[in-house]
Amino acid sequence: MDFSLTEEQQMFRNLFREFTEKEVAPMAEHIDKAEAPPVEALKRAAAQGFLGIPIPEQYGGAGLDYLTYTLFAEEIGKHCLSTAITVTIHTLLASMSILDAGTEAQKQAYLPRLAGGGELASFALTEPDAGSDPGSLRTVARREDGTFYLDGVKNWVSNGGLASLHVVFASTEPGQRHQGLSAFIVEKDSPCVVVGHREPTLGLRGMDIRTIYFEDGHVPAENLLGPLNGGWPIVLRAFNRVRLGLAAAALGAAEGALALGVNFAVERRQFGAPIAQKQAIQNYIADCAVEIEALRHLVRYTAWLADTGQDYGRYASMAKYLGARAAKETANKMLQVHGGYGFSDEYAISRVYRDVRALRLLGGTDEIQRYAVARGIFDEKGLKIQP
Ligand SMILES: Cc1cc2nc3c(=O)[nH]c(=O)nc-3n(C[C@H](O)[C@H](O)[C@H](O)COP(=O)(O)OP(=O)(O)OC[C@H]3O[C@@H](n4cnc5c(N)ncnc54)[C@H](O)[C@@H]3O)c2cc1C
Repeated sequence: MDFSLTEEQQMFRNLFREFTEKEVAPMAEHIDKAEAPPVEALKRAAAQGFLGIPIPEQYGGAGLDYLTYTLFAEEIGKHCLSTAITVTIHTLLASMSILDAGTEAQKQAYLPRLAGGGELASFALTEPDAGSDPGSLRTVARREDGTFYLDGVKNWVSNGGLASLHVVFASTEPGQRHQGLSAFIVEKDSPCVVVGHREPTLGLRGMDIRTIYFEDGHVPAENLLGPLNGGWPIVLRAFNRVRLGLAAAALGAAEGALALGVNFAVERRQFGAPIAQKQAIQNYIADCAVEIEALRHLVRYTAWLADTGQDYGRYASMAKYLGARAAKETANKMLQVHGGYGFSDEYAISRVYRDVRALRLLGGTDEIQRYAVARGIFDEKGLKIQP
Protein backbone atom coordinates (compact mmCIF):
# COMPACT_ATOMS: atom_id res chain seq x y z
CA MET A 1 0.00 0.00 0.00
CA ASP A 2 1.41 3.37 -1.03
CA PHE A 3 0.12 6.31 1.01
CA SER A 4 2.48 8.89 -0.49
CA LEU A 5 1.46 11.79 -2.72
CA THR A 6 2.83 11.79 -6.27
CA GLU A 7 5.45 14.39 -7.15
CA GLU A 8 2.81 16.35 -9.04
CA GLN A 9 0.41 16.28 -6.05
CA GLN A 10 3.21 17.47 -3.75
CA MET A 11 4.07 20.25 -6.17
CA PHE A 12 0.44 21.40 -6.27
CA ARG A 13 0.15 21.20 -2.49
CA ASN A 14 3.16 23.52 -2.17
CA LEU A 15 1.62 25.88 -4.71
CA PHE A 16 -1.72 25.90 -2.81
CA ARG A 17 0.12 26.46 0.46
CA GLU A 18 2.07 29.42 -0.92
CA PHE A 19 -1.07 30.92 -2.40
CA THR A 20 -3.04 30.51 0.85
CA GLU A 21 -0.32 31.98 3.03
CA LYS A 22 0.07 34.98 0.73
CA GLU A 23 -3.48 35.69 -0.43
CA VAL A 24 -5.94 34.04 1.96
CA ALA A 25 -4.48 33.93 5.48
CA PRO A 26 -3.83 37.70 5.75
CA MET A 27 -7.45 38.60 5.01
CA ALA A 28 -9.26 35.84 6.96
CA GLU A 29 -9.89 38.01 10.03
CA HIS A 30 -10.83 41.02 7.93
CA ILE A 31 -13.51 39.27 5.86
CA ASP A 32 -15.06 37.86 9.05
CA LYS A 33 -15.22 41.25 10.77
CA ALA A 34 -16.31 43.11 7.63
CA GLU A 35 -18.76 40.29 6.76
CA ALA A 36 -17.58 40.62 3.18
CA PRO A 37 -16.61 37.86 0.74
CA PRO A 38 -12.94 37.54 -0.29
CA VAL A 39 -13.47 38.96 -3.77
CA GLU A 40 -9.83 39.88 -4.46
CA ALA A 41 -8.49 36.51 -3.28
CA LEU A 42 -11.07 34.75 -5.46
CA LYS A 43 -9.94 36.78 -8.49
CA ARG A 44 -6.34 35.78 -7.83
CA ALA A 45 -7.39 32.15 -7.33
CA ALA A 46 -9.15 32.28 -10.70
CA ALA A 47 -6.06 33.75 -12.36
CA GLN A 48 -4.00 30.81 -11.05
CA GLY A 49 -6.55 28.28 -12.33
CA PHE A 50 -7.70 27.31 -8.81
CA LEU A 51 -11.41 27.76 -9.58
CA GLY A 52 -11.35 24.88 -12.06
CA ILE A 53 -9.05 22.29 -10.49
CA PRO A 54 -10.98 19.13 -11.51
CA ILE A 55 -12.47 20.59 -14.72
CA PRO A 56 -10.80 19.11 -17.84
CA GLU A 57 -8.31 21.32 -19.69
CA GLN A 58 -10.46 21.34 -22.83
CA TYR A 59 -13.02 23.40 -20.86
CA GLY A 60 -10.47 25.77 -19.37
CA GLY A 61 -9.78 23.85 -16.16
CA ALA A 62 -6.62 22.29 -14.73
CA GLY A 63 -7.73 18.69 -15.36
CA LEU A 64 -6.51 17.46 -11.96
CA ASP A 65 -7.85 14.63 -9.80
CA TYR A 66 -10.10 14.79 -6.73
CA LEU A 67 -7.19 14.09 -4.44
CA THR A 68 -5.46 17.25 -5.66
CA TYR A 69 -8.70 19.17 -5.08
CA THR A 70 -8.78 17.91 -1.47
CA LEU A 71 -5.24 19.23 -0.98
CA PHE A 72 -6.44 22.64 -2.15
CA ALA A 73 -9.52 22.64 0.14
CA GLU A 74 -7.35 21.52 3.06
CA GLU A 75 -4.73 24.25 2.58
CA ILE A 76 -7.34 27.01 2.23
CA GLY A 77 -9.41 25.55 5.10
CA LYS A 78 -6.40 25.83 7.44
CA HIS A 79 -6.67 29.60 7.33
CA CYS A 80 -10.13 30.54 6.08
CA LEU A 81 -13.08 28.17 6.02
CA SER A 82 -15.28 30.80 4.34
CA THR A 83 -12.99 30.86 1.31
CA ALA A 84 -12.55 27.07 1.24
CA ILE A 85 -16.32 26.49 1.23
CA THR A 86 -17.00 29.28 -1.28
CA VAL A 87 -14.65 27.62 -3.77
CA THR A 88 -15.84 24.09 -2.95
CA ILE A 89 -19.47 24.97 -3.64
CA HIS A 90 -18.51 26.78 -6.85
CA THR A 91 -16.35 23.89 -8.05
CA LEU A 92 -17.72 20.60 -6.75
CA LEU A 93 -21.43 21.42 -6.49
CA ALA A 94 -22.08 23.85 -9.33
CA SER A 95 -19.38 23.67 -12.04
CA MET A 96 -18.93 19.91 -11.80
CA SER A 97 -22.70 19.41 -12.15
CA ILE A 98 -22.45 21.11 -15.55
CA LEU A 99 -19.54 18.85 -16.45
CA ASP A 100 -21.48 15.85 -15.13
CA ALA A 101 -24.82 16.44 -16.87
CA GLY A 102 -24.32 19.18 -19.44
CA THR A 103 -24.53 18.83 -23.21
CA GLU A 104 -21.34 19.48 -25.14
CA ALA A 105 -22.70 22.92 -26.05
CA GLN A 106 -23.43 23.74 -22.37
CA LYS A 107 -19.97 22.59 -21.28
CA GLN A 108 -18.31 24.73 -23.92
CA ALA A 109 -20.50 27.72 -23.13
CA TYR A 110 -20.26 27.71 -19.33
CA LEU A 111 -17.26 25.81 -18.04
CA PRO A 112 -14.51 28.10 -19.41
CA ARG A 113 -16.24 31.04 -17.70
CA LEU A 114 -16.31 29.17 -14.37
CA ALA A 115 -13.03 27.28 -14.51
CA GLY A 116 -10.73 30.08 -15.60
CA GLY A 117 -12.78 33.12 -16.47
CA GLY A 118 -13.14 34.44 -12.94
CA GLU A 119 -16.90 33.89 -12.72
CA LEU A 120 -18.54 32.05 -9.81
CA ALA A 121 -21.51 29.70 -9.69
CA SER A 122 -24.00 28.63 -7.04
CA PHE A 123 -26.17 25.56 -6.43
CA ALA A 124 -29.73 26.31 -5.38
CA LEU A 125 -31.53 23.27 -3.99
CA THR A 126 -32.67 24.11 -0.45
CA GLU A 127 -35.95 25.92 0.18
CA PRO A 128 -37.56 27.35 3.33
CA ASP A 129 -39.68 24.16 3.71
CA ALA A 130 -37.36 21.68 1.99
CA GLY A 131 -33.95 21.15 3.59
CA SER A 132 -32.95 17.56 4.39
CA ASP A 133 -35.88 16.42 2.24
CA PRO A 134 -35.32 17.96 -1.21
CA GLY A 135 -38.06 15.72 -2.63
CA SER A 136 -40.56 18.06 -0.97
CA LEU A 137 -39.31 21.20 -2.70
CA ARG A 138 -41.98 23.50 -4.07
CA THR A 139 -40.28 25.55 -6.77
CA VAL A 140 -41.94 24.59 -10.02
CA ALA A 141 -40.84 24.99 -13.62
CA ARG A 142 -43.45 24.97 -16.37
CA ARG A 143 -42.59 24.99 -20.03
CA GLU A 144 -44.22 27.23 -22.61
CA ASP A 145 -42.77 27.03 -26.09
CA GLY A 146 -39.01 27.62 -25.82
CA THR A 147 -38.97 28.88 -22.22
CA PHE A 148 -39.24 27.41 -18.73
CA TYR A 149 -40.89 29.68 -16.14
CA LEU A 150 -39.65 29.09 -12.60
CA ASP A 151 -41.72 29.97 -9.54
CA GLY A 152 -40.52 29.55 -5.98
CA VAL A 153 -37.95 30.52 -3.35
CA LYS A 154 -34.48 29.09 -2.73
CA ASN A 155 -32.71 29.90 0.52
CA TRP A 156 -29.20 29.25 1.85
CA VAL A 157 -27.75 29.78 -1.61
CA SER A 158 -23.99 30.07 -1.00
CA ASN A 159 -22.29 32.45 -3.47
CA GLY A 160 -25.81 33.69 -4.30
CA GLY A 161 -24.81 37.33 -4.75
CA LEU A 162 -21.40 36.62 -6.32
CA ALA A 163 -22.46 34.04 -8.86
CA SER A 164 -22.97 34.87 -12.50
CA LEU A 165 -24.99 31.69 -12.87
CA HIS A 166 -26.96 29.38 -10.62
CA VAL A 167 -27.64 25.65 -10.94
CA VAL A 168 -31.26 25.54 -9.79
CA PHE A 169 -33.51 22.57 -9.04
CA ALA A 170 -37.26 22.75 -9.60
CA SER A 171 -40.13 20.36 -9.95
CA THR A 172 -41.27 19.68 -13.49
CA GLU A 173 -43.71 16.96 -12.31
CA PRO A 174 -45.27 18.32 -9.11
CA GLY A 175 -46.29 15.51 -6.75
CA GLN A 176 -43.60 13.16 -8.07
CA ARG A 177 -41.01 14.19 -5.45
CA HIS A 178 -37.44 13.24 -6.46
CA GLN A 179 -38.62 11.68 -9.71
CA GLY A 180 -40.10 15.01 -10.81
CA LEU A 181 -37.02 17.20 -10.26
CA SER A 182 -35.14 18.90 -13.08
CA ALA A 183 -31.99 21.02 -13.06
CA PHE A 184 -31.55 24.35 -14.83
CA ILE A 185 -28.67 26.70 -15.57
CA VAL A 186 -29.96 30.16 -14.67
CA GLU A 187 -27.98 33.27 -15.62
CA LYS A 188 -27.93 35.87 -12.84
CA ASP A 189 -29.66 38.57 -14.90
CA SER A 190 -32.50 36.34 -16.08
CA PRO A 191 -35.84 38.19 -16.07
CA CYS A 192 -37.86 37.82 -12.84
CA VAL A 193 -35.03 36.25 -10.82
CA VAL A 194 -34.33 38.36 -7.73
CA VAL A 195 -31.36 37.81 -5.42
CA GLY A 196 -32.12 38.87 -1.83
CA HIS A 197 -29.85 40.38 0.81
CA ARG A 198 -26.87 38.56 2.29
CA GLU A 199 -27.95 36.42 5.28
CA PRO A 200 -26.29 37.34 8.60
CA THR A 201 -24.81 34.16 10.12
CA LEU A 202 -23.13 32.86 13.29
CA GLY A 203 -19.94 32.05 11.40
CA LEU A 204 -18.58 31.78 7.85
CA ARG A 205 -19.13 35.51 7.63
CA GLY A 206 -16.90 35.72 4.59
CA MET A 207 -19.45 33.68 2.65
CA ASP A 208 -22.14 35.22 0.54
CA ILE A 209 -25.35 33.35 1.40
CA ARG A 210 -28.59 34.58 -0.15
CA THR A 211 -32.25 33.84 -0.73
CA ILE A 212 -33.23 33.83 -4.41
CA TYR A 213 -36.79 34.52 -5.54
CA PHE A 214 -38.20 33.22 -8.82
CA GLU A 215 -41.40 34.88 -9.95
CA ASP A 216 -42.04 33.44 -13.37
CA GLY A 217 -38.24 33.55 -13.82
CA HIS A 218 -37.51 33.02 -17.51
CA VAL A 219 -35.06 30.26 -18.40
CA PRO A 220 -34.50 29.29 -22.06
CA ALA A 221 -35.36 25.64 -22.70
CA GLU A 222 -31.79 24.93 -23.81
CA ASN A 223 -30.69 25.70 -20.23
CA LEU A 224 -32.29 22.52 -18.93
CA LEU A 225 -29.35 20.62 -17.39
CA GLY A 226 -29.61 16.87 -17.93
CA PRO A 227 -32.86 15.12 -18.84
CA LEU A 228 -36.31 16.45 -17.96
CA ASN A 229 -37.20 14.94 -14.55
CA GLY A 230 -33.60 13.73 -14.32
CA GLY A 231 -32.41 16.20 -11.67
CA TRP A 232 -32.20 13.85 -8.69
CA PRO A 233 -29.21 11.76 -9.89
CA ILE A 234 -27.40 15.08 -10.53
CA VAL A 235 -28.08 16.08 -6.89
CA LEU A 236 -26.85 12.73 -5.55
CA ARG A 237 -23.56 12.88 -7.47
CA ALA A 238 -23.11 16.52 -6.47
CA PHE A 239 -23.65 15.59 -2.79
CA ASN A 240 -20.94 12.92 -2.98
CA ARG A 241 -18.46 15.38 -4.46
CA VAL A 242 -19.21 18.21 -2.06
CA ARG A 243 -19.08 15.94 0.99
CA LEU A 244 -15.57 14.91 0.01
CA GLY A 245 -14.61 18.57 -0.52
CA LEU A 246 -16.14 19.67 2.79
CA ALA A 247 -14.36 16.84 4.61
CA ALA A 248 -11.06 18.13 3.20
CA ALA A 249 -11.92 21.72 4.19
CA ALA A 250 -12.79 20.41 7.68
CA LEU A 251 -9.42 18.65 7.84
CA GLY A 252 -7.72 21.95 7.08
CA ALA A 253 -9.84 23.82 9.65
CA ALA A 254 -8.98 21.24 12.32
CA GLU A 255 -5.26 21.46 11.49
CA GLY A 256 -5.45 25.26 11.57
CA ALA A 257 -7.17 25.20 14.98
CA LEU A 258 -4.61 22.74 16.36
CA ALA A 259 -1.74 24.96 15.21
CA LEU A 260 -3.33 27.96 16.97
CA GLY A 261 -3.66 25.93 20.20
CA VAL A 262 -0.12 24.53 20.05
CA ASN A 263 1.42 27.98 19.49
CA PHE A 264 -0.59 29.44 22.33
CA ALA A 265 0.35 26.58 24.68
CA VAL A 266 4.05 27.17 24.02
CA GLU A 267 3.86 30.92 24.62
CA ARG A 268 1.37 31.18 27.49
CA ARG A 269 2.99 30.74 30.92
CA GLN A 270 1.16 29.96 34.15
CA PHE A 271 2.60 28.58 37.42
CA GLY A 272 6.05 29.56 36.11
CA ALA A 273 6.04 27.37 32.99
CA PRO A 274 4.46 27.21 29.51
CA ILE A 275 1.00 25.63 29.81
CA ALA A 276 2.28 23.08 27.23
CA GLN A 277 3.99 21.46 30.25
CA LYS A 278 0.61 20.56 31.75
CA GLN A 279 -0.71 17.10 31.01
CA ALA A 280 -4.29 18.34 30.71
CA ILE A 281 -3.20 20.58 27.83
CA GLN A 282 -1.05 17.84 26.27
CA ASN A 283 -4.07 15.50 26.28
CA TYR A 284 -6.18 18.01 24.37
CA ILE A 285 -3.42 18.40 21.79
CA ALA A 286 -2.87 14.64 21.45
CA ASP A 287 -6.60 13.84 21.16
CA CYS A 288 -7.00 16.36 18.36
CA ALA A 289 -3.89 15.16 16.52
CA VAL A 290 -5.27 11.59 16.56
CA GLU A 291 -8.66 12.68 15.14
CA ILE A 292 -6.93 14.74 12.47
CA GLU A 293 -4.77 11.85 11.26
CA ALA A 294 -7.79 9.52 11.16
CA LEU A 295 -9.65 12.13 9.14
CA ARG A 296 -6.72 12.67 6.76
CA HIS A 297 -6.61 8.97 5.91
CA LEU A 298 -10.37 8.79 5.38
CA VAL A 299 -10.30 11.84 3.11
CA ARG A 300 -7.40 10.41 1.08
CA TYR A 301 -9.06 7.00 0.78
CA THR A 302 -12.38 8.54 -0.29
CA ALA A 303 -10.61 10.70 -2.90
CA TRP A 304 -8.81 7.60 -4.17
CA LEU A 305 -12.14 5.77 -4.55
CA ALA A 306 -13.51 8.76 -6.47
CA ASP A 307 -10.43 9.06 -8.68
CA THR A 308 -10.49 5.38 -9.55
CA GLY A 309 -14.16 5.52 -10.57
CA GLN A 310 -15.47 3.48 -7.64
CA ASP A 311 -18.63 4.12 -5.64
CA TYR A 312 -17.55 6.51 -2.89
CA GLY A 313 -20.91 7.78 -1.59
CA ARG A 314 -20.84 6.04 1.76
CA TYR A 315 -17.22 7.03 2.36
CA ALA A 316 -17.95 10.63 1.41
CA SER A 317 -20.67 10.69 4.10
CA MET A 318 -18.31 9.10 6.63
CA ALA A 319 -15.55 11.58 5.81
CA LYS A 320 -17.89 14.58 5.95
CA TYR A 321 -19.34 13.40 9.29
CA LEU A 322 -15.93 12.70 10.82
CA GLY A 323 -14.62 15.98 9.38
CA ALA A 324 -17.38 18.06 10.95
CA ARG A 325 -16.83 16.29 14.28
CA ALA A 326 -13.04 16.56 14.25
CA ALA A 327 -13.13 20.25 13.30
CA LYS A 328 -15.72 21.04 15.97
CA GLU A 329 -13.91 19.08 18.69
CA THR A 330 -10.53 20.55 17.78
CA ALA A 331 -11.82 24.13 17.69
CA ASN A 332 -13.56 23.59 21.03
CA LYS A 333 -10.52 22.06 22.75
CA MET A 334 -8.09 24.62 21.30
CA LEU A 335 -10.39 27.43 22.47
CA GLN A 336 -10.15 25.86 25.94
CA VAL A 337 -6.35 25.88 25.66
CA HIS A 338 -6.56 29.64 25.01
CA GLY A 339 -8.46 30.16 28.29
CA GLY A 340 -10.36 33.45 28.39
CA TYR A 341 -8.43 34.75 25.38
CA GLY A 342 -10.18 32.13 23.27
CA PHE A 343 -13.44 33.94 23.95
CA SER A 344 -12.02 37.21 22.67
CA ASP A 345 -12.59 38.35 19.09
CA GLU A 346 -8.92 39.34 19.05
CA TYR A 347 -7.88 35.69 18.78
CA ALA A 348 -8.44 33.73 15.58
CA ILE A 349 -9.62 30.62 17.45
CA SER A 350 -12.95 32.31 18.27
CA ARG A 351 -13.64 32.79 14.54
CA VAL A 352 -12.66 29.20 13.77
CA TYR A 353 -14.96 27.98 16.55
CA ARG A 354 -17.92 29.83 14.99
CA ASP A 355 -17.03 28.82 11.43
CA VAL A 356 -16.65 25.07 11.95
CA ARG A 357 -20.12 24.80 13.47
CA ALA A 358 -21.60 25.10 9.98
CA LEU A 359 -19.86 21.90 8.87
CA ARG A 360 -22.42 19.87 10.81
CA LEU A 361 -25.20 21.44 8.73
CA LEU A 362 -24.36 22.17 5.11
CA GLY A 363 -23.95 19.50 2.47
CA GLY A 364 -26.33 17.35 4.54
CA THR A 365 -26.52 17.48 8.34
CA ASP A 366 -24.71 15.08 10.67
CA GLU A 367 -27.97 13.18 11.09
CA ILE A 368 -28.36 12.74 7.33
CA GLN A 369 -24.73 11.56 6.94
CA ARG A 370 -25.27 8.95 9.64
CA TYR A 371 -28.45 7.83 7.91
CA ALA A 372 -26.54 7.52 4.61
CA VAL A 373 -23.87 5.38 6.31
CA ALA A 374 -26.43 3.17 8.07
CA ARG A 375 -28.45 2.81 4.84
CA GLY A 376 -25.44 1.35 3.06
CA ILE A 377 -24.88 -1.13 5.89
CA PHE A 378 -28.52 -2.26 6.03
CA ASP A 379 -28.69 -2.41 2.22
CA GLU A 380 -26.11 -5.17 2.42
CA LYS A 381 -28.53 -7.04 4.71
CA GLY A 382 -31.36 -6.58 2.21
CA LEU A 383 -33.21 -4.12 4.47
CA LYS A 384 -34.26 -0.75 3.02
CA ILE A 385 -34.29 1.95 5.70
CA GLN A 386 -36.02 5.31 5.26
CA PRO A 387 -34.70 8.74 6.27
C1 LIG B 1 -23.52 27.70 5.79
C2 LIG B 1 -24.55 26.98 4.95
C3 LIG B 1 -24.43 26.99 3.57
C4 LIG B 1 -25.38 26.36 2.79
N1 LIG B 1 -25.26 26.39 1.42
C5 LIG B 1 -26.21 25.83 0.63
C6 LIG B 1 -26.15 25.93 -0.80
O1 LIG B 1 -25.21 26.50 -1.37
N2 LIG B 1 -27.17 25.41 -1.52
C7 LIG B 1 -28.23 24.75 -0.95
O2 LIG B 1 -29.11 24.28 -1.67
N3 LIG B 1 -28.31 24.64 0.42
C8 LIG B 1 -27.35 25.15 1.22
N4 LIG B 1 -27.43 25.06 2.60
C9 LIG B 1 -28.60 24.42 3.20
C10 LIG B 1 -28.29 23.08 3.83
O3 LIG B 1 -28.07 22.13 2.84
C11 LIG B 1 -29.47 22.75 4.76
O4 LIG B 1 -29.42 23.64 5.85
C12 LIG B 1 -29.44 21.32 5.24
O5 LIG B 1 -29.69 20.45 4.18
C13 LIG B 1 -30.49 21.05 6.34
O6 LIG B 1 -31.75 21.53 5.96
P1 LIG B 1 -32.56 22.48 6.96
O7 LIG B 1 -31.65 23.56 7.41
O8 LIG B 1 -33.84 22.85 6.31
O9 LIG B 1 -32.86 21.58 8.23
P2 LIG B 1 -34.02 20.46 8.38
O10 LIG B 1 -33.98 19.52 7.24
O11 LIG B 1 -35.30 21.12 8.69
O12 LIG B 1 -33.51 19.69 9.66
C14 LIG B 1 -33.68 20.16 10.99
C15 LIG B 1 -33.08 19.12 11.93
O13 LIG B 1 -33.78 17.87 11.78
C16 LIG B 1 -32.88 16.84 11.42
N5 LIG B 1 -33.51 15.91 10.48
C17 LIG B 1 -34.22 16.19 9.36
N6 LIG B 1 -34.60 15.07 8.75
C18 LIG B 1 -34.12 14.04 9.48
C19 LIG B 1 -34.18 12.62 9.38
N7 LIG B 1 -34.81 12.03 8.36
N8 LIG B 1 -33.59 11.88 10.33
C20 LIG B 1 -32.94 12.47 11.37
N9 LIG B 1 -32.84 13.82 11.53
C21 LIG B 1 -33.42 14.59 10.60
C22 LIG B 1 -31.71 17.56 10.75
O14 LIG B 1 -30.54 16.78 10.74
C23 LIG B 1 -31.61 18.81 11.61
O15 LIG B 1 -30.93 18.52 12.79
C24 LIG B 1 -26.47 25.69 3.40
C25 LIG B 1 -26.58 25.66 4.80
C26 LIG B 1 -25.65 26.31 5.58
C27 LIG B 1 -25.80 26.28 7.07
